[in-house]
Amino acid sequence: LTAELAEIAGEPAQTPDGHCINLYVNTGLAAEIERALEIGCAGVGLHRTEFPFMVSTRFPGESEQADDYRQVLEAFAPLPVTLRTLDVGGDKPLPYFPTHDENPFLGWRGVRMTLDHPEIFLTQLRAMLRASAGLENLRIMFPMITRVEEADQAAALVRRARDELADEGIDTAMPALGAMVEVPAAVYQAESLARRLDFLSIGSNDLAQYLLAVDRNNSRVASIYDELHPAVLRAVAEVAATGQRLGTPVTICGSMAGEPAVAPLLLAMGMEGLSMSSGRLLRVKRVLRTIPYSAARSLLDSVLVCETPGEVRQRVNAEMDRHG
Ligand code: PEP
Ligand code: MG
Repeated sequence: LTAELAEIAGEPAQTPDGHCINLYVNTGLAAEIERALEIGCAGVGLHRTEFPFMVSTRFPGESEQADDYRQVLEAFAPLPVTLRTLDVGGDKPLPYFPTHDENPFLGWRGVRMTLDHPEIFLTQLRAMLRASAGLENLRIMFPMITRVEEADQAAALVRRARDELADEGIDTAMPALGAMVEVPAAVYQAESLARRLDFLSIGSNDLAQYLLAVDRNNSRVASIYDELHPAVLRAVAEVAATGQRLGTPVTICGSMAGEPAVAPLLLAMGMEGLSMSSGRLLRVKRVLRTIPYSAARSLLDSVLVCETPGEVRQRVNAEMDRHG
């Protein structure tokens, strides 16, 4: 950490003309938790729960999971911690639970799998709720939402898990519930999702992959995978605008959120927060503290009419140069 970056660790993510945004961290491993606590943040915008499932030889049980979740909830309390429900399949296979998908990214992943296995889903939800007892900073987020019914069913399972626990004498606060917007269909149903849930979080890694039809891990087509593609930016901006219109907070937790040059655009779109790996946070904060909101708004207006990623990149870089 350079001294200059360390200096702003305790400062707010505020533009020179007074606009603030929350900077959250993405976590998954214990080491990431420690790192995030050192640099300061507004909480956890995405805690990926897959890792303990991937390194295990079987599904971890409720208590085992609850211990993991308690660790992260407690570390950040009273700041909000967003636990994402299991997102296996796609690029995150479980050796002991093969999905046999010919097209894993278009297959049985995220809530598609967990809704088909309520026993797996309920165990995880009960573990999350149990871990949150007495802390009240839990938020739960569902990956790969494609249909509004999935959001309804997932929310119903959270209520059921809470009722079960209450019957067992464990009272837990109702967590805020959110959907990831990472399937193009969810962009066009952002309004319906926002009405049903407490928050939305844009998974720009998958959203870009699905909008551009490019496997995000295939180096052959890596050059087509571009988060500054105008279609990706417009989709992201549209979701943010929908959230603002309805008063539902929208955050973004894909790697785009940790790109310092892109952060002013995301702020100008009206995001409530950006969630990124902790290694990115101070650099993003430095840029936000340098570029005025008014300049970010003009930049956004100008990139939303660009026709190519190259034009977008040129404008974004020119703005960065202007502000040193
Ligand atoms: C995303 O898709 O942008 C995201 C944050 O989730 P993951 O990278 O875990 O799929
Ligand atoms: Mg994703």
